[in-house]
Amino acid sequence: MGYMEDHSPNWIEAELRQLDAAGLRRTLKTQAGPQGAIIEVAGRGLINFGSNDYLGLAGDSRLADAAVVAADKEGWGSGASPLVTGRSTSHQRLEEHLAQFEGTEAALLFSTGFAANMGTIASLAGRGDLILSDERNHASIIDGCRLSRAEVFIYPHRDTDAVAVRLKAANGFRRRLIVTDSLFSMDGDCAPLPALAGLAERYDTMLLVDEAHASGVFGERGRGLCEQFGVEESVTARVGTLSKGLGSLGGFVVGSQQLIDYLVNRARPYVYSTAMPAAVAAAAIASLDIVRDEPHRRRELLRRAGQLRTTLRENGWQVGEGPGPIIPVIIGDPDETMELSARLADAGFFVPGIRPPTVPDGRSLLRISLSYLHSEEMIAGLIAVLANPQ
Ligand SMILES: *Cc1c(COP(=O)(O)O)cnc(C)c1O
Repeated sequence: MGYMEDHSPNWIEAELRQLDAAGLRRTLKTQAGPQGAIIEVAGRGLINFGSNDYLGLAGDSRLADAAVVAADKEGWGSGASPLVTGRSTSHQRLEEHLAQFEGTEAALLFSTGFAANMGTIASLAGRGDLILSDERNHASIIDGCRLSRAEVFIYPHRDTDAVAVRLKAANGFRRRLIVTDSLFSMDGDCAPLPALAGLAERYDTMLLVDEAHASGVFGERGRGLCEQFGVEESVTARVGTLSKGLGSLGGFVVGSQQLIDYLVNRARPYVYSTAMPAAVAAAAIASLDIVRDEPHRRRELLRRAGQLRTTLRENGWQVGEGPGPIIPVIIGDPDETMELSARLADAGFFVPGIRPPTVPDGRSLLRISLSYLHSEEMIAGLIAVLANPQ
């Protein structure tokens, strides 16, 4: 068989020790109270630069109120998958709201963005197909590619030349699919969406764009980077999440009515998994309304993100490229990264250190995640501590 049998009495313990030794063991934290600019971890209030709550909606009482009203009317559990009894009036309304917000024919809700990617990718591609996937794509995209059983070509980060070369020689495949994050979750940079859209059209290839970190944040109407780059019409399937900028929970796919009808029949995490509670859908409707009615949140967030990037660079930090609220400060070594993160916590700032396998070896980083809720003083405080972290 080629495999060594493993006779160690406790191989799990050995694996954990190995993670410890490499400085890569992760442990859980628990925080008390709602999400916001300040969170309570281990009994201490920390200024929170760690969540993906870019617009400050996760703790907004309008979401919680909408959920309470819906739970009162529709109860809590959904009871079954959406195809059985799980799809309530609130689910349907949210899908209609999403299609309207995104300017597409239809939308489909999944329990999480992770499930939306896995289900959609594995439904669009299968044996005999080719998927082209950016090397820094999110884990849910990677797992969707693996699950699909298609041949997967992993191209160097943002390298559209590599995509073009591979597509030129891809005649033997039944179908082709390019998949990419729009805003990369750890690097904070953008996919080359116009070039990818052009290649998709030229080579009769489907394009799936995951807007998880861009939904609500970019674009005139807050739809994301496809809107900002003007490529929405060229995208076969846009995946998004309600769990980040939108402050709630759940994933979604938007596109043509045919695409959605097909996914309802084929996407296994949709067909075989229980629908989210109706109250969760109701909270997400409230957050879409806020994104529509309060565009100053995203504008102010992007302005402050640009300023923070500039200041950190002026102070000598290596800061990732990118336009948005994910601001990676690249340290390199995992131990050094975690030490800096711990020193920031001592000073009252929660800034998570990100290590392999989430980022490539040698690219451990502090991931500063900016929120609309951060005051100028909080941001200035972070800059000051980083300038003198002892
Ligand atoms: C977080 C994330 C997801 C998963 O979304 P959830 O709703 O949290 O499951 C998918 N894609 C990307 C790029 C993400 O960052």
